[in-house]
Amino acid sequence: MTATDVLIAGAGPAGLAFGLALADSGLDVTMVDARPAGAAAQDRRILALSHGSRQILERLGVWPQLPVTPIERIHVSQSGTLGRSLLAAADYGLTALGYVVAAGKLAEALADALARTGVVVRHGTRLEQCTEQDEGCSAELLAGGQSARVHARLVALCEGGVDAGGKEAVRERDYAQHAVLAIATPAAATRGLAYERFTAHGPLALLPFGRDYCAIYTCPADQLEAVMALDEAAFAARLGAAMGGRVQFSRIGPRAAFPLVLRVRARAVEGHRVWLGNAAQTLHPVAGQGYNLALRDVIELADRLRTGGMADVSASLAQHAAARRLDRAGAIGFTDGLVRLFDLDLPAARHARGLGLLALDLCPPVRHMLARRMLFGARAWP
Ligand SMILES: Cc1cc2nc3c(=O)[nH]c(=O)nc-3n(C[C@H](O)[C@H](O)[C@H](O)COP(=O)(O)OP(=O)(O)OC[C@H]3O[C@@H](n4cnc5c(N)ncnc54)[C@H](O)[C@@H]3O)c2cc1C
Repeated sequence: MTATDVLIAGAGPAGLAFGLALADSGLDVTMVDARPAGAAAQDRRILALSHGSRQILERLGVWPQLPVTPIERIHVSQSGTLGRSLLAAADYGLTALGYVVAAGKLAEALADALARTGVVVRHGTRLEQCTEQDEGCSAELLAGGQSARVHARLVALCEGGVDAGGKEAVRERDYAQHAVLAIATPAAATRGLAYERFTAHGPLALLPFGRDYCAIYTCPADQLEAVMALDEAAFAARLGAAMGGRVQFSRIGPRAAFPLVLRVRARAVEGHRVWLGNAAQTLHPVAGQGYNLALRDVIELADRLRTGGMADVSASLAQHAAARRLDRAGAIGFTDGLVRLFDLDLPAARHARGLGLLALDLCPPVRHMLARRMLFGARAWP
């Protein structure tokens, strides 16, 4: 059996960021990923990164290489009512509220930066099993049909899915919705303006992406087949109608669909193991919180480990979980609450939400609090 300080299972955007954050810590870091090299660069998700995530990615040295589109304003509305709210970066003394990036480009930039540090990702290597043993964990790795054991003082599970192996540890809510992603070219050019619109079918987001938009159209699971079968013109018309005519589209790129479900591990830390990113919690993309939360977790943990946290790993991980509890619960509750708030399609509820959006616009302190939650996570709260 070989030995390492930290074993990271999963080299998606969360695992790669954690590996990079530990690269110059002096710790021996072993990284494995079940997929072949380059697979993460094919990720079709498009992510909105918060201002706080920009600061973390700057620290990790990958920000300058990232092709990002700034979000200067966010227009929030719902179909069928007049209320709307507008969040603007200028109100917070910033040039951008957030940034839009292709998850594949982000993974590529993180992987390139990691390779420059000398940390090697063993691709085509799957973590099969991991059990507590001798002040650490014994992990079984499978590559090319060969199994090997590694002892790690700490194992970070970044495998992208919440799979506890025992359902009691996982809270799950199937939203019975799919997110359909497509790059959509607007008929009239706009700059830096994002839209979040709540419709009877579910939320619709338009994220500025270069000169185009990335449309994230949510539809009920039983309508997915029909939506994916629409031709380009019909899908463009569907998007334009969902936007209440505010934006029309001249071209739509290929669509990709993602099932939407909330899955939360009750404990993101157990003994010498920590779960990070989607492996800890998989969230609805409506509020763009998933990866932003993952980055805050990753950087806090890496800082803790590089400042004496490896002396007693299980105690450090328990402290990490306690320190991150508020932000984690806030991001999960905020996202799930938003989906549920706009899920009720009763006229009275719609009207109340319209008034709520109007009130948000008329009441700057509440609007600022919401914006700060999106910008910084738990640091938003006093
Ligand atoms: C439609 C959509 C839009 C989104 N928009 C946003 C947004 O705007 N903002 C935001 O912050 N978040 C957003 N998210 C969430 C974001 O995409 C995820 O939080 C993030 O990409 C998760 O990265 P990850 O590294 O945890 O998981 P993944 O990207 O799934 O990576 C997991 C890796 O682990 C590997 N793996 C799996 N099992 C094993 C194993 N047993 N052993 C070894 N390796 C293994 C896989 O091969 C993979 O490379 C969105 C998600 C969706 C679906």
